[in-house]
Amino acid sequence: MSSSPAEPTALSVLNPATLEVVGKVPNSTAEEVNTAIKAAQRAAPSWAASSERGSFLLAVATDLKANVVRLAHLLTQEQGKPLREAMEELMGAVHWLRSVAGVKLPEDDRISTPQGEARIERRPKGIVAAITPWNYPVILAFWKIAPALVSGNCVILKPSPFTPLTSIEIEKLFSLHLPSGVLQVLPGGDETGSVLAKHPGVDHISLTGSVAAGRAVGAQAGHNLKTATLELGGNDAAIVLEDADPANVARELFINAFKNCGQTCTAIKRIYVHHSLHGALGEALRSQADSLVVGDGMQPATKMGPINNAPQLTKVHSLISDALVRGGSVICGGRRIDSPGFFHQPTIVIGLPDDALLVTEEQFGPVLPVLEFDNIDDALERANQSNLGLGGSVWSADSERAMDITHRLECGTTWVNRHSATDPAVPFGGIKESGLGYANGKAGLEEFMRIRVSYPGQKE
Ligand code: NAD
Repeated sequence: MSSSPAEPTALSVLNPATLEVVGKVPNSTAEEVNTAIKAAQRAAPSWAASSERGSFLLAVATDLKANVVRLAHLLTQEQGKPLREAMEELMGAVHWLRSVAGVKLPEDDRISTPQGEARIERRPKGIVAAITPWNYPVILAFWKIAPALVSGNCVILKPSPFTPLTSIEIEKLFSLHLPSGVLQVLPGGDETGSVLAKHPGVDHISLTGSVAAGRAVGAQAGHNLKTATLELGGNDAAIVLEDADPANVARELFINAFKNCGQTCTAIKRIYVHHSLHGALGEALRSQADSLVVGDGMQPATKMGPINNAPQLTKVHSLISDALVRGGSVICGGRRIDSPGFFHQPTIVIGLPDDALLVTEEQFGPVLPVLEFDNIDDALERANQSNLGLGGSVWSADSERAMDITHRLECGTTWVNRHSATDPAVPFGGIKESGLGYANGKAGLEEFMRIRVSYPGQKE
């Protein structure tokens, strides 16, 4: 969503289930970006020097936990996901904040050299621009906020224009415990993100979003000679071997493809299944789709909400149209649900050629291609044909053989008989065009720190 930050306009946030306006937020201007950066710069020296950052963050985690139910309602209204999933996302944020607040920062290293002992210290980078997407607006913000703050940086969070409301409420909780300027939320469109990412006062940019936004932000960071962590799109393949039991694996495959309405960076976006199981797996997946309750996330029975926004719904439609032109058969779903909201049936397509757009592009929605293979070398070659390399999985009764096969998948994270697991202690990042750098774990923390080396003086 782009609109000029030169004019102080408001952005309306729609409930994707009803198309009612849930709230309005400012479309922050270049001047507001400047003001936020100045406030962060004022706060930075004492925050970097504080020895109590971990305890401040633990206090925020306690408040966040007390507010989970209230915030989950808001998250469902702006994002569309079922309330239970919104609660899980917020509880995930509490868990992430607690885990990272207690992390032991890397100790100074000392290295003996012929010139004497060199001391290697890690310092915060300074001001971090954190830019987030609309699919998991809370947990993905905490993947950035928690390590950036604990390592002594000040953060300006620019949420997606489709889902800024929960982030703004979360800023209020932080402001009860943290000094002013340490964490600020600056709502706005893509242009506000661009002004922020270009600003010379920003020392590090951490973006989660599309490949296009990653290229733009990476170029801006390069121009200013600043660092950037880019967590971008995925087109994860799941390879189902001939010894898997379709009835056993269908449920997990389905959940990992359609959770959050397919709008997950590490959703299963292509299934490659051995030809001997193709019919049975298609049937088992179709029966999962048939029993899925699609509706407003506020309704307790709902298992899948709407697509979050109109451009994404259009993208899903165009991929299904191309799939039909390319000879694909829709074995379930295929249509928008008649309702004011952005609801779409869970859709499974078979019989596609490898160059259909539904196979080569990231659908980020409730439509899944199921493709047949004859031998594992062929499956791996086709799975690896993608320009993206976020995650991938192999499904088999023989988990050791499956593990061996995962080593041949070209992606940042692989799983066996599961998909999508992440943890605050484990690094997460993509290869190829899925990104640069890491979130989480020690590697994720290091993204927010720079190294300073000192050689103590020699005796005169
Ligand atoms: P998007 O790129 O449109 O927007 C993401 C954020 O970047 C938004 O806040 C947006 O305003 C901002 N933005 C867009 N253009 C910008 C620019 N030129 N300069 C600065 N900021 C800019 O992405 P989206 O549609 O919100 O999210 C969907 C994408 O995010 C999918 O491709 C998905 O795979 C990816 N994603 C990746 C991960 C991961 O961890 N790798 C996680 C979640 C989502």
